[in-house]
Amino acid sequence: MHTPRTALCWLRRDLRLADHAALAHAQGAGRVLAAFVFDPAQLSGLARDDARVALIWHSLLDIRQRLRALGSDLAILHGDPADEIPLLAARAGAHAVFAARDYEPAARARDARVAAALATDGRALELVKDQVVFDTGEVLTRESKPYTVFTPYARAWRAKLAPADAGSLAVRLAADAFLPWREDGAVTLATLGFTDNPIGRAEAGEAAAAQRLAAFEAKIDDYHAARDYPARDATSQLSAALRFGTVSIRTLTRTALAHDGAGAQAWLNELVWRDFYQQLLWHFPHAATESFKPAFRDLPWPGEDSHFDAWRAGQTGYPLIDAAMRELLQTGWMHNRLRMVVASFLVKDLLIDWRRGEAHFAHHLLDYDLAANNGGWQWAASTGCDAQPWFRIFNPVTQSQKFDPDGAYIRRWVPGLAALDARSVHAPWQAKALPAGFALGRDYPVPIVDHAAQRERALALYGKQP
Ligand SMILES: Cc1cc2nc3c(=O)[nH]c(=O)nc-3n(C[C@H](O)[C@H](O)[C@H](O)COP(=O)(O)OP(=O)(O)OC[C@H]3O[C@@H](n4cnc5c(N)ncnc54)[C@H](O)[C@@H]3O)c2cc1C
Repeated sequence: MHTPRTALCWLRRDLRLADHAALAHAQGAGRVLAAFVFDPAQLSGLARDDARVALIWHSLLDIRQRLRALGSDLAILHGDPADEIPLLAARAGAHAVFAARDYEPAARARDARVAAALATDGRALELVKDQVVFDTGEVLTRESKPYTVFTPYARAWRAKLAPADAGSLAVRLAADAFLPWREDGAVTLATLGFTDNPIGRAEAGEAAAAQRLAAFEAKIDDYHAARDYPARDATSQLSAALRFGTVSIRTLTRTALAHDGAGAQAWLNELVWRDFYQQLLWHFPHAATESFKPAFRDLPWPGEDSHFDAWRAGQTGYPLIDAAMRELLQTGWMHNRLRMVVASFLVKDLLIDWRRGEAHFAHHLLDYDLAANNGGWQWAASTGCDAQPWFRIFNPVTQSQKFDPDGAYIRRWVPGLAALDARSVHAPWQAKALPAGFALGRDYPVPIVDHAAQRERALALYGKQP
């Protein structure tokens, strides 16, 4: 009798069933069993109520429910993937395992271990492109080298883009496309050692991502003009959905291409930045832990721990910085303009190693992504390959006046400043008159540093390097 071939699809940062490279390829190879593995190496060190774990968990439950309706299941496992994936492949009789390629150094090492473990049983790990529009070898310079400057990379990226690159990778959601299967459901959030988190839960699943996309499409035409103003909520807020793959990058690229105009063009440019940072991390994995530019590798950061604590808590006395840092703690999200400003402030006003800020973001951002986060931090610290020049230093007050002109964003996150008018809210210590009953130092901190003085110190620090 003919036995249909079986393929395993190992989900990682592609938590959806639509437009899915690994699933589409696996379906081409046989009936599919889908699986996800919680890796203790990745879970250790996270808070018990980490929103990202909840986001993953609820996205998995959604997928599981839909696969169960087809008589199959999503196998949710807990352990070292190099043990779990080969064991499940053997149990399911799968001849191959399909997964989306991941560009992070730790993920690459893990995938190499899983591939080696599978090979001992004669099974292959097939890694396919899903996370980016163009893979690491697809957009190269004329000398076949990776680009290290964004503008020519983006030009080459756009020139290469054909409709097929953003085409949907269709998945057949039919009972005969999946392996009949039933897992025992032994792994739960509780057995993993976690509790639920309403923020992660709200962002979970394809429907939540589709809703965000629909809401953004209604305002995409204004994106280029409004994207820098945090109070205006003009960006897509799809970064967590992209990070966990509840929507595909191809779907977003198609959306950008479907709209004419400067807004959609500017947004597509941000999706290209995302590809750029992924390919940089792949080609230059050392940048994950040290300055991309050798000249800035040994900067002797003189910053103080108490200043780092004030920055983390949103207690620096600079209202825009504090509003952004408080939003991060409360919601796990921060606007791109503010990520740039608070990163610059930590590095060039507080003179603290960018890697400490990077780690703080990694701990709190719902959309935390090593490539984008490291790229953003190295840009702000001027240590990256195509970064802000080291002598360019954001003035936190000017940035505040420019991008939050009436102080609406500041007042949303620092209610203690609610009574201050649009002139004084950016720098209360410079205000000629403060509202009755408001005392600086009691109701809101005095600035922990003087920007002008720190700017000079930063210039001296960077300027001394070879
Ligand atoms: C210091 C710093 C740290 C950052 N850390 C992260 C991070 O951990 N994860 C993350 O996804 N982004 C990070 N970014 C990039 C950017 O701030 C966020 O992607 C963006 O704010 C997310 O909001 P959005 O979805 O509304 O973006 P939109 O403006 O709607 O952009 C659409 C998508 O494009 C991508 N994108 C936009 N800007 C960038 C960028 N500069 N680099 C790479 N991709 C980009 C994101 O996937 C985003 O969802 C960081 C930027 C800085 C300066």
